[in-house]
Amino acid sequence: MPERAQARTGDQALVREINLALIMQRLRENAPISRAALAEMTGLNKSTVSSLVQELISSRFVHEIGRTANNIGRPSTLLQINPSAGYIVSAEIGVDFIAAACANFAADVIWQHRQDTVSDHSQTSIMTRLRKLLTQAIKAGRRQGLERPLGLALGIPGLVEQETGILLFAPNLHWENVPLRAMLQVTFPTIPIFVDNEANLAALGEHFYGAARGYDTVLYISAGVGLGGAIVTGSRLFKGKLGFASEFGHMTFDADGERCNCGNRGCWETFVSQSVVFRAVRQAVESGRPSLICDWIGSDWNRLTMTMVLDAARRADPVALAALDTIGHNLGIGIASLVNALNPDRVVFGGTLSLAGDFLLPAVQAELHTRALRWNADATSVALARYGADACVMGGIAVVHQSIFTHSLATR
Ligand SMILES: [Zn+2]
Repeated sequence: MPERAQARTGDQALVREINLALIMQRLRENAPISRAALAEMTGLNKSTVSSLVQELISSRFVHEIGRTANNIGRPSTLLQINPSAGYIVSAEIGVDFIAAACANFAADVIWQHRQDTVSDHSQTSIMTRLRKLLTQAIKAGRRQGLERPLGLALGIPGLVEQETGILLFAPNLHWENVPLRAMLQVTFPTIPIFVDNEANLAALGEHFYGAARGYDTVLYISAGVGLGGAIVTGSRLFKGKLGFASEFGHMTFDADGERCNCGNRGCWETFVSQSVVFRAVRQAVESGRPSLICDWIGSDWNRLTMTMVLDAARRADPVALAALDTIGHNLGIGIASLVNALNPDRVVFGGTLSLAGDFLLPAVQAELHTRALRWNADATSVALARYGADACVMGGIAVVHQSIFTHSLATR
């Protein structure tokens, strides 16, 4: 094929993919909806919408569900995403847990399971347990009559090489160079597998189904054991050259600060994490400040949990409130810089620390409005993640959804 013709075919394929993605997005957000309404909302002409919808119906991703009678004029047929189009498996390897879920094509989670890995964190053992969970998830999908495997997504808190699905480095898990996609493909050879950074997936999950739905430029920040983040723009993750973008937790916050698990000093993550909250509480108590937490744990600091800090904060415990306020300010200082850098219209905060969102957000807002340029601060809103600990798994479902329309429907 001549070069120009090839380029044109490529452009046409890209336009078709973009249009399909646009139609699917409107269906996700507005179904049941008619073809005419889809055309109006997407700005595509009616014949393009009709032909793409026909393709989606033939491949069973969309179905007709009857007619609307409340329009003036002719009743029109309504469309929605076909939940029975197949099953999607989504999983997460966290620092101290593994989780998996099975969803139908309408992103309804039909099976979900989460296990602690605190006392059992060898890589071999975690991978064995994960494979068992994934097998159970697939069985759960089949039990619901969902036959077609649409994809399997896995999120992990580390750098994932996009082309190969190799986990290069997960600082808080201490894993390096693990060919995750290839390992899972051996066990599940017939299902497309996607591996990505946990915060990337969580951001996409919130954008597709949660607190960032309907926003165009989204900054997602997730804090728990570590601090991660992601950027979604135009419904796509911004990944950088190799897929390692948005490692916000490792921005330098204090040039002479304490050593971070990544090897650098004074990373933002060393100022905003669960262990920073615990350390602040412990230091306050050991310096003689009274706290409910003392009564609850005695002198065994290993018993301290985020839930306890939250319970204490809800009872106006000054030590818990002060610890969360400090973290909130450290979180807000970093967010203000990122808002200046990225000009998002939505900031979503997720991860375990977001459970304390009510106590953290006032300090975040204060720092944002003190430090970011006024126009940038005014252009954005800050919200807590809708899915909390499940955001990554929801994002895996979103990634599979998105992937389906970047390949020819005919091959599926
Ligand atoms: Zn670091």
